[in-house]
Amino acid sequence: MSMNRGGRPTSAQGGCSSDSPTFTGNRALVIEEPLLFEVGDVSKTGVDLDEPEVHEKRLGALERSGIGLPGLTEPEVMRHYVRLSQKNFAIDSGIYPLGSCTMKHNPRLNEKMARLPGFADVHPLQPQSSVQGALELIDTLAAWLLELTGMAGVAMSPKAGAHGEFCGMAAIKFAQRAKGDARSIVLVPESAHGTNPATAALLGYKVRDVPAREDGTVSPDAVKEALGPDVAAIMLTNPNTCGLFERDIVAIADAVHEAGAYFYCDGANFNAIVGKARPGDLGIDCMHINLHKTFSTPHGGGGPGSGPVVFSQALAPYAPVPYVVRNGEEFALVETSGAAEGAEPFGRQTAFHGQMGMFVRALAYMMSHGSDGLRQASEDAVLNANYVRAGLRDVMTQPFGDQVCMHEVLFDDSFLKDTGVTTLDFAKAMIDEGFHPMTMYFPLVVHGALLIEPTESESKASLDQFIAALRDLVRAAKGNDKERLTGAPHHAPWARLDETRAARQPVLRWTGDAPAEAAE
Ligand SMILES: *Cc1c(COP(=O)(O)O)cnc(C)c1O
Repeated sequence: MSMNRGGRPTSAQGGCSSDSPTFTGNRALVIEEPLLFEVGDVSKTGVDLDEPEVHEKRLGALERSGIGLPGLTEPEVMRHYVRLSQKNFAIDSGIYPLGSCTMKHNPRLNEKMARLPGFADVHPLQPQSSVQGALELIDTLAAWLLELTGMAGVAMSPKAGAHGEFCGMAAIKFAQRAKGDARSIVLVPESAHGTNPATAALLGYKVRDVPAREDGTVSPDAVKEALGPDVAAIMLTNPNTCGLFERDIVAIADAVHEAGAYFYCDGANFNAIVGKARPGDLGIDCMHINLHKTFSTPHGGGGPGSGPVVFSQALAPYAPVPYVVRNGEEFALVETSGAAEGAEPFGRQTAFHGQMGMFVRALAYMMSHGSDGLRQASEDAVLNANYVRAGLRDVMTQPFGDQVCMHEVLFDDSFLKDTGVTTLDFAKAMIDEGFHPMTMYFPLVVHGALLIEPTESESKASLDQFIAALRDLVRAAKGNDKERLTGAPHHAPWARLDETRAARQPVLRWTGDAPAEAAE
């Protein structure tokens, strides 16, 4: 096998002519992994089935060969999935500095807690009397979230950040409708995550951009300019996606409220301020919290998300059901809303109560850190981002000047000007150095953005290594070693994939034809 550049690799078995010895084509951990369907064979099985007549009776007309399931032995299946897992990059294998995504270490204690049978083996339709401990856990986690945010109510059921945005913005819509004050526009700063305008649009709002000022933050004047009697809400991220704290957030909240609108805060970056600032003190009406970012529950292939939404007193009655209430020593999931007379909450957002496994992990993270530990995690995340900034600022370029950042540091691509090397090349070259690339080309307000979030998980030694590797890549980009970047990755099992073909020509079902040939 040769290292492939952008094409489908020659198959492990197919690359040799008949008179040469058969090589595997594999090199160390760079192993060609065919699909299970390509190696399977109906005559093989990983399970010893019952006597033939029993087997036939059970399966009836369902013939295995008829539905095309591959037959494999247990070791073949094990090797297939272990090899696939080794091709992946994970927070457990190295630095994963994906800005805004907060790829922090997932403490194993949390995994242990989530696997306790009283949490892992419960079913959402079990009688509530038999899941009192699980309900108490949801209630306790809700109390921690309210304490940390200084808010009045919380909806636990949203299953990710974007789902939480929908929850909060729907509550705003219903609250305004109840007041007979339906409005049609949502303000979104240019630097916002794409889910913000998408959420507003999904709820039928028109999106109005708010420009950022020179220093990368939003000015109250720009917000005032954009406000009007038709504006339902602003969706603002703080710290923002440029890694900067919106220092005028209280003035912005005042202006928004004065115009009769609500303040939705995208709380994906809450991990920078936990224990330092409470959204409730900043004039925020509702905010989602990505448990899978701030509170370390696994994500990005490692597990589902969870996006509880905290509400101000005024909006809390519009939160979706169900929620947990405590009566003395008893806990109950309540299906009817506690909404005030005349209020019309939007009902249910998920089939059950939310992501139980993530609730357990998040609470384990909070309780094992304690409030001082959570504050320190935020401080260390900010310290690490600034350490990276200080280590790179003389060779890379910061779009909003050399200012202290929060939990992530943003560079633009002016340092690559006239080199012929792009942000994409730079990111691909990081793979060869053993790092997951940073977030690139986001936020959109910055040309060729490179957004680095090291998180508090990284030690000084690991940050030093990371900084040294990036400095060396800058040197290569500016010198005579550009191929190292423009041709990267040189050492990954697969090189540059077609970035859009998977979305434009998805192959969703194995038909026996190699997808590349089939599409031609
Ligand atoms: C991650 C993120 C979201 C979306 O959260 P999901 O849990 O991925 O749905 C929204 N806004 C910002 C700023 C984010 O970083």
